Amino acid sequence: MSRHFNYLSIGGGSGGIASANRAAIRGATAAVIEAKAVGGTCVNVGCVPKKVMWYGAHIAEALKYSPAYGFDITQNSFNWATLVKNREAYIQRIHGSYHKGFDNNGVTYIEGFARFIDERTVEVNGERITADHITIATGGRPVLPDIPGAEHGIDSDGFFALTEQPKKALVIGAGYIAVEVAGVLHALGTETHLLIRGDKPLRSFDSDITDMLLERMTQDKLKLHKQTNVIKIEKISDGNLTVHCDNGVEFTGVDCVIWAIGRAPASDKLNLAAAGVKTDKDGNITTDKYQNTNVKGIYAVGDVTGEAQLTPVAVKAGRLLAERLFNKNMPDAHMDYSLIPTVVFSHPPIGTIGLTEAEAIEKYGATNVKVYRSGFAAMYNAITEHRALSRFKLVCTGKDEKVVGLHGIGEGMDEVLQGFAVAIKMGATKADFDATVALHPTSAEEFVTMR
Ligand code: FAD
Ligand code: NDP
Repeated sequence: MSRHFNYLSIGGGSGGIASANRAAIRGATAAVIEAKAVGGTCVNVGCVPKKVMWYGAHIAEALKYSPAYGFDITQNSFNWATLVKNREAYIQRIHGSYHKGFDNNGVTYIEGFARFIDERTVEVNGERITADHITIATGGRPVLPDIPGAEHGIDSDGFFALTEQPKKALVIGAGYIAVEVAGVLHALGTETHLLIRGDKPLRSFDSDITDMLLERMTQDKLKLHKQTNVIKIEKISDGNLTVHCDNGVEFTGVDCVIWAIGRAPASDKLNLAAAGVKTDKDGNITTDKYQNTNVKGIYAVGDVTGEAQLTPVAVKAGRLLAERLFNKNMPDAHMDYSLIPTVVFSHPPIGTIGLTEAEAIEKYGATNVKVYRSGFAAMYNAITEHRALSRFKLVCTGKDEKVVGLHGIGEGMDEVLQGFAVAIKMGATKADFDATVALHPTSAEEFVTMR
């Protein structure tokens, strides 16, 4: 058996689905091959389940604040399994809507693991499928370190598979996932230890923001262990691990170790050599700005390219590729990878776009950079005994004070960022910010009232 399509996405995650749907909308015969669950990382083991857990944590925090708002509530228990059940039911509904989208657009969905046979052919479930255009959108997978007992820990996929709440968890890593998972577990009542090998998490973020994150973690009593490298995990019995660190610290009675030390591109099992597709030394599939790989007719989008590992990036790159290939009015369509806004769902959330202060100084010189800051207590918790600070910051450059970086940590920052990202993408200056009437009382108004 063999089939032929105009457009084929290998990988039914954010990038693959978006591009195949757009190709079909533009008249191509299109198919998606997915080895696991439709929706890929974001829907099944990424953004979606993470945000549900984050909302759960948010409710736990609201309960903490509730007495100051006059509520006399007795919290009897928290049922992890209920949260997980409702989360997974929601994900099932998303699966359904993806399939509906495929049906409406005429996209063929094929379950199975694809491998290249040559530059026009892949094999899946023993079937050879050919296509005029093939897009590799296979995403990535979590990496584990090479230390004794590493396998006793789980990764972020394992975190979402937990059916019971861990009692004592160690989260290892200093990136988005470590910060988010540790924050959720801590807020939901697990004894949580975040182990980082340096002095702060999210090292590449603006230091004013990460300083405030540290302050908020301390205030929330999340146990952060700096300069701590795990060298061995020992399984004492089921659900009882001892974790040894290079600085002599030992954690006993741990029932959950979560590795969050980065992700690697899923390019190694595709038999790329059969098609002649090249990767860099880390396995990322290299492309030009049009998502072309080194082989004509083969493209790559999303996490597998090593670009910003964010769902909207994979989606946009995939859609624009389909427009370029199948929309005669958009022959030059391609993704603009500059000024990508991003949010970390920490406690409180962080939102950021553009250059950090340090990056701006390096690029433009200290005399050409002007920074505006605001530190304030958001009203939401200011009336409670958990009063805590938010910090917002603008990084500007040149005589006209063009805003080249906007950073914030504070309640609501996840929702605040998107609109400001539009302004910055349009080249807004500090004067444009100042000319905008504030919204009161909000946290966002700080961005247009900085002195
Ligand atoms: P994926 O979504 O990973 O999809 C790739 C798909 O390809 C997978 O389903 C895989 O099974 C399939 N596949 C692989 N190889 C083959 C093969 N040979 N044949 C067939 N199928 C194959 N981003 C955000 O923007 N916001 C967030 O809040 C956010 N939170 C995250 C939280 C976590 C815990 C994680 C892990 C990631 C998060 N991300 C977030 C990142 C986001 O999930 C990814 O950037 C996004 O999913 C990348 O899309 P993609 O299409 O490149 O790959
Ligand atoms: P990241 O690349 O963000 O962070 C991993 C960090 O872990 C490294 O930066 C490093 O920090 C630390 N690390 C690396 N190796 C080790 C080690 N052996 N031991 C201890 N620490 C180590 O990876 P994540 O897995 O957190 O996330 C992958 C990507 O997924 C993110 O970059 C992001 O693009 C995406 N994502 C997006 C989210 C969102 O949009 N909200 C949420 C979750 C993920 P250091 O060098 O400082 O030690």
